[in-house]
Amino acid sequence: MIKIQPLQTDIPMEALSPANDPWDPIRSLRRYGTHRLTSVEMTVSNLCNMRCEHCAVGDTLVLSEPAKLPLKQMLDRLDEVEQLETISITGGEPSFSEKTVREYMLPLLQYARSRGVRSQINSNVTLPYGRYELLAPYLDVMHISFNYTSAEDFHRIGFAKAGHRVSYEAAAKLYERMIDNARRLADTGVLVSAESMINFRTYDKIDEIHRLIVEMGCKRHEVHPMYPSAFAKDLPVLPREQMLQAIDLLLKSRDKSVWMLFGTLPFYPCSGNPEERRLLKRLAEEPNVTVRNDPDGRNRLNVNLFTGDVFVTDFSDVPAFGNIADARLDELFDRWLDHPLARSVNCHCPAASCCGPNLLVKDMYYKDVDFNRRSAIID
Ligand code: SF4
Repeated sequence: MIKIQPLQTDIPMEALSPANDPWDPIRSLRRYGTHRLTSVEMTVSNLCNMRCEHCAVGDTLVLSEPAKLPLKQMLDRLDEVEQLETISITGGEPSFSEKTVREYMLPLLQYARSRGVRSQINSNVTLPYGRYELLAPYLDVMHISFNYTSAEDFHRIGFAKAGHRVSYEAAAKLYERMIDNARRLADTGVLVSAESMINFRTYDKIDEIHRLIVEMGCKRHEVHPMYPSAFAKDLPVLPREQMLQAIDLLLKSRDKSVWMLFGTLPFYPCSGNPEERRLLKRLAEEPNVTVRNDPDGRNRLNVNLFTGDVFVTDFSDVPAFGNIADARLDELFDRWLDHPLARSVNCHCPAASCCGPNLLVKDMYYKDVDFNRRSAIID
């Protein structure tokens, strides 16, 4: 068992809750009157022990990877971010290499804790618990994916793109370990947040998935529609009506003590469709339910720790628009806000607490819509 004493920090931090979600860009927009960089996501691995059919970064996964930039270079750049409130660490499976866990993830989390900055890791939590145990004392949110009702689902979905046969027995062991690790982390006080996608596989059993997530001890269930990235382009797109039905099913059957966080929904308060507005109104009124505005490029940037390249998100088609070797992250963020793509989704309707669509969603469903000419319809 690894024994690590938590760092002493004098910085009091308000508990994360539906009323306090620092990843939501509407907070900084309200506070500063303009979008500010408050969140930095770092890609620390392109390795993964799984090959999920829907993986947003599946195209970037490799079997061996080059060295990363010196940690100090990243820490120095984080230090310059004036309004930093959150960091996220992502992959691949970021904890795939124990060396990365010890030499990058742990010091990044310690840095965040010492500065009063909230932290999140995106992980499949299928690796030995010791890796997560090392990080847990400094970590706020462990974000996992959970789209299953059984080990069979996990086997089918999690290794769909493996390119070689993975036995059911091997997958079932990982499934059990994932559940066990999530429970143990939740028991230590880490907020384990399980994300499910609404897609052709899950839309009619999202209630059962929710039940299992609650049983694992997760205090938050995050729900996003699935948008097929390049890697998952062969997956069927779910019509918006079925998405609405799945959300209805979830709201009817959910455990109300668990925070439900919806994100990247393709519905906005300016929609001409009353059904979509009705759903948003219901979500706004439900206790313990939030709809997070999209952080990508609004309060967050992604840094690739192998190259230093800076992106809007880890899976975007938008090419890198800078590198941490050449500029401060705040400068790069301002550069992005001037980009025509950023301008195309830079709307804000304060009465509806909405600050515009996700770029992928706009591209998929609203190609010809000028959101800067729309405004929320308050029923
Ligand atoms: S902020 Fe943009 S997307 Fe949201 S309601 Fe207003 S116009 Fe629509």
